[in-house]
Amino acid sequence: MATKAEVLDFIRVYADKMAEHRQELTDFDQAIGDGDHGINMSRGFKAVMEKLPTVYEKNIDDILKTVGMTLVSTVGGASGPLYGTAFMKAGAAVKGKEELSDEDIILALDEAVGGIQFRGKAVEGEKTILDSMIPAINAIKASIADGKTMTEALVAAEAAAWDGVEYTKTIIATKGRASYLGERSIGHQDPGATSMAYAFQAIKEVAE
Ligand code: ADP
Ligand code: MG
Ligand code: MG
Repeated sequence: MATKAEVLDFIRVYADKMAEHRQELTDFDQAIGDGDHGINMSRGFKAVMEKLPTVYEKNIDDILKTVGMTLVSTVGGASGPLYGTAFMKAGAAVKGKEELSDEDIILALDEAVGGIQFRGKAVEGEKTILDSMIPAINAIKASIADGKTMTEALVAAEAAAWDGVEYTKTIIATKGRASYLGERSIGHQDPGATSMAYAFQAIKEVAE
C-alpha cells in the first residue's frame, strides 16, 4: 500500500539521489555515451521539485503525470522521454486513486515499463534502463506471489535492480548512444540502468 504522502516522499527522495549521484551517473555516461546522464536526470528532477508544490492538492495520478510531463519538457536526450513516459503511464494506470494498493503499485510499474518499451523499442539484455527495471518488477511479483509483504518485496526489488546493473557490465549495448561503441561497451556499467536502480532504492527507503 502507498499513500499520496509516500508517493510525494518517493519523488523527493529520488530527486535528492539524482542530485547526489549526478557526477557518478555522468561519469558512467562519459565512458559509453556523451557524458550527460547525471546532468540530465538532476536537471529534470530539480525542475520536478520546483513544480511539485503546484500539485500537492491533486490526486496521485495528476502528481505522477506532472512529474512525467516535466521530465519530458526539461530533459533533453533519451532519458527524458523514457522516464517521462514511465511516470505518465504510471499515473494513467492509477487514475482517480487516493492511495495505491499493492496491485495498483504493480500495475503502475507494469505500465511504466510498457511505456519505456513502447517508446524506446528495447528489450531486456540491450544494456538499458530495462536491465534493472524488469528484474526489479519481476522480483516484486515473485515476492508477493510467495506471500511476502510489499516492504519485503521492495527490498528484493532493489537487490534485483543492482544485480541487473552488474549484468549491464557484461553485455553489449544495442540501443541508445552506447550502441555506437559495439563490443567496446562491454565492461562498462549502464548509466540508465543505474539511475533506475536508484529509483527502486528510493521506493524501498520510503516504504521502510
Ligand atoms: P542520451 O543518450 O541521449 O545522452 P542519457 O545520457 O540521459 O541520454 O541516457 C542514456 C541512457 O538511456 C542509457 O544509459 C540507457 O540506459 C538509456 N537508454 C537509451 N536508449 C534506450 C532505449 N531505447 N530504451 C531504454 N533505455 C534506453
Ligand atoms: Mg548521455
Ligand atoms: Mg545526451
